[in-house]
Amino acid sequence: MGRLEGKITLVTGGASVPGLGSATARRFAEEGAVVYVTDLDGEGVEKVAASIRDSGGSATAMRHDVTSEADWDAVMSAIVGEHGRLDGLVNNAGIAVLRPIEAFTTADWEKQMRVNMDSVFFGTQRAVKVMREVGKGGSIVNLSSTAGLVGVPMCGAYAAAKGGVRMFSKTIAMECARDQIRVNSLHPGMIDTNMQNVARTDNPDGFKEIVAAIPMGRMGLPEDIANMALFLVSDEGNYITGAELVVDGGATAQ
Ligand code: NAD
Repeated sequence: MGRLEGKITLVTGGASVPGLGSATARRFAEEGAVVYVTDLDGEGVEKVAASIRDSGGSATAMRHDVTSEADWDAVMSAIVGEHGRLDGLVNNAGIAVLRPIEAFTTADWEKQMRVNMDSVFFGTQRAVKVMREVGKGGSIVNLSSTAGLVGVPMCGAYAAAKGGVRMFSKTIAMECARDQIRVNSLHPGMIDTNMQNVARTDNPDGFKEIVAAIPMGRMGLPEDIANMALFLVSDEGNYITGAELVVDGGATAQ
């Protein structure tokens, strides 16, 4: 029996391959979950869902802009209409715009906040409502970053949003603990996905130096994050709430 057998789950930002959302959706399906996987890129996420189904998993794709409350309502009513509940939510969709403070525009700032932080509020609020109504608990995993824990140059808005996600998660964990609804933040270090490909292409030498400085001497794999999300959504994580789970090859332990 799979570690998520019969659980109804939603993973956002799942179109990118390699990406944390697609790896998480795949891992959840391998462990028996019913997976809804969503993204702004509707065609991309349909390909991810189709490939999971081809491997024998249960996956449904939906186009979903996580900054749109109407989209959140549509996704949640599709899931609840079909299954009557939601057991696990991974708020994964995110963007990274890295630039020095003087070069940040207000529009850059607002977009980062909207996609990386407001979306987590929209999703968490809706998931908590369903989980409370059903009364069987649940698990919400919010993707933060090591940039939400320690200072990283060029990351002003990204880090502010990810730090916000960390504290928001702890607060909602306290509000929901009695209902056995668990809320945790997940803090990846440098993981080899399309998000990192942008930095790798923009500044190849600087990128190599940053990777070499990681204690384990390499980037993480999307599956390393997917496995932590799996643990948190599975019953193995049943007594973990309000925690910040760091998966970074030792980067923030230095
Ligand atoms: P990625 O760029 O590979 O994939 C992100 C996905 O989010 C894309 O498919 C994109 O289309 C989607 N997305 C962007 N805006 C959206 C919106 N408004 N609505 C719906 N979907 C949207 O990124 P990734 O590396 O897989 O990162 C996933 C999450 O993990 C992000 O929150 C990111 O900040 C976080 N993270 C990543 C790393 C890393 O090293 N890769 C490190 C720390 C944290």
